[in-house]
Amino acid sequence: MGDLLNGKNVVVMGVANDRSIAWAIAQSLAAQGARLAFTYENERVEGRVRKLAETIPGSLLVPCNVTVDEDIDKLAELLSAEFGVLHGLVHSIAFAKAEDLSGEFVDTSREGFALAHDISAYSLIAVSGRLSKLMTEGGSIMTMTYLGSERVMRNYNVMGVAKAALEASVRYLANDLGPRNIRVNAVSAGPIRTLAAKGISDFNSILKQVEEKAPLRRTTETAEVGDTAMFLISHLSRGITGEVIYVDGGYNFIGA
Ligand code: NAD
Repeated sequence: MGDLLNGKNVVVMGVANDRSIAWAIAQSLAAQGARLAFTYENERVEGRVRKLAETIPGSLLVPCNVTVDEDIDKLAELLSAEFGVLHGLVHSIAFAKAEDLSGEFVDTSREGFALAHDISAYSLIAVSGRLSKLMTEGGSIMTMTYLGSERVMRNYNVMGVAKAALEASVRYLANDLGPRNIRVNAVSAGPIRTLAAKGISDFNSILKQVEEKAPLRRTTETAEVGDTAMFLISHLSRGITGEVIYVDGGYNFIGA
């Protein structure tokens, strides 16, 4: 336990279960004294998220499907009423249709492209726009990305293009919000077996490659991502904005 985030209010978007990266981030934030609000996508995950949230005393639970503007408006209203001031926003949300996460990228449908980009990239802009208004004492926004934004990774396909849009959005948002002392960054995590990863065909061979080639010779743990996200939300990272920070055991810089 530490006190880096004592008195700070942080909203965590993207917990689906105890394997979610957002859950590891929430635990790192709570361990430093942050007060948390969790959002969940729909009733399908509500029970699981509620059980997890209950283990962190004083946390709030709010429904928010990021494709629905009214949900984001309601979230902003509720956080304004409960927290008053918001200091941190964790965005750990992505989605693409299963058929767009296998085979060839060239076969991506217009609808599949739009859906992946709406949920995985535009949602960061939508929530940052509304929730940054509550960051009246400055703040920190962080999101989750993956190396598939820069390199062609087999089966990642449309999600790679959505992550490229997400990372560019991080820089544009950082530029817009910087004058209000609100920072925006991304963590690029190595592959981790989560619900979202289940959608990617042949995920096991990706994990195996990392074990063989990453300088640390092992795959990434969610707790490592959680601690880096906590650093980005805390004042320790106060000079950093618009960056993509790799938490991948060094895999990103290894050549063939
Ligand atoms: P996860 O399935 O636990 O989390 C994805 C979350 O997105 C879920 O909570 C889901 O409910 C939410 N979501 C999807 N559509 C939504 C919508 N319309 N409205 C609100 N929420 C919605 O999987 P995860 O691996 O923890 O993924 C979290 C983030 O980390 C994603 O952005 C993912 O791309 C990124 N990431 C994952 C890995 C990995 O290998 N697992 C690596 C790098 C980056």
